[in-house]
Amino acid sequence: MNLFDPQLLDRCISCGFCLPACPTYALTGDEGSSPRGRITLMRALDTGVLDVDDPRVREEASFCLGCRACEPVCPAGVQYGQLLETWRDLEWAGRDRPLVARLLTTVTAVTPLLRLLGLVRRPARGAGPPDRSLMLGCVERGLFPGVSRAVRRLLPGIAVPPAQGCCGALHAHNGDSQRGEELAHRLGEQLPGVVVTTSGGCAAHLATVLGRERVQELSEHLVATGTTPVGEVRVGGRRARVALQDSCHLRNGLGVAAQPRALVAAVADLVPVPGEATCCGAAGTYSLLRPGDSRRILDPKLDAVEAAGVDYVVTVNPGCLRQLDQGLRRRRSRVRAVHLADLLLDAAGGRALPRPRRRALRAGRG
Ligand code: SF4
Ligand code: SF4
Repeated sequence: MNLFDPQLLDRCISCGFCLPACPTYALTGDEGSSPRGRITLMRALDTGVLDVDDPRVREEASFCLGCRACEPVCPAGVQYGQLLETWRDLEWAGRDRPLVARLLTTVTAVTPLLRLLGLVRRPARGAGPPDRSLMLGCVERGLFPGVSRAVRRLLPGIAVPPAQGCCGALHAHNGDSQRGEELAHRLGEQLPGVVVTTSGGCAAHLATVLGRERVQELSEHLVATGTTPVGEVRVGGRRARVALQDSCHLRNGLGVAAQPRALVAAVADLVPVPGEATCCGAAGTYSLLRPGDSRRILDPKLDAVEAAGVDYVVTVNPGCLRQLDQGLRRRRSRVRAVHLADLLLDAAGGRALPRPRRRALRAGRG
């Protein structure tokens, strides 16, 4: 039926190398919840053996985190993220899209609403030469407007046009890849020069649509431009101990993992934590659509972060920041989740980070 691009679907050689990398396979041990199993389901859809209403097909399209951890380990170069977008387009078309996803994709597509949000939450704004501009993400504008203000202080010359729409990543990952592409093109016209973003997920989507040379995630931009961090982050008279949580799409989609680590290590003691490269369970709308599964993914990660004895866990994506912050607060951990931009600004003597709590108020999970 050619529902999927045959060049993408036929690439899988069913070797199974991707299985150990997949968080949902790790949870269930069920082949059907692995990348290879899901590609088998896509093939069954493509040949008409199963249809989009099949309960297992529906369940697996939703259970998949879309983290793309299956891509870098795949010897055949399967572009699983693109296959998943097509699959979600088929499963979540129109009223079949989950209500939360429908609401979020509708609201974020309305630029005047985003501008209104900007007036209330006051993210960064400012003019600059037309060679680079800072993207104000939808989630970040609403929940963490201080992150863009931190970037503007770290990079005083960067332009931050206030008239910015959504990048469309939310749409592309939630069953409307065509709208996702349109929004990315529109944002590309609104932002001059290199688009710098503080969101790994947005960076990966924009790079796919606008071209890799047009888009840089913040850590990538700082390293590429030789912007050396200054100062250090201190806690209780010593250098802070800091873990890094990768952004899945930044690491698995764009291959950016060394840069944020180099920046953290320049201003603090970077502490490796088991599982730091795997998904935190935020995964776009996943934590809203499947909160139980999202917690099952998150909890072992928070256990590892706490066991490592760090003061902060740094993220490079607002969705991960929200997920880790909420999880750590729930268990009243002494560890704080912060964005990389805020860590670097604290080191430089700018706005201070919230200090880690002296001790956990209550041990164990909330
Ligand atoms: S997706 Fe890649 S790693 Fe996984 S089974 Fe197919 S070819 Fe092998
Ligand atoms: S995107 Fe993530 S959860 Fe989905 S199949 Fe690939 S590794 Fe598994």
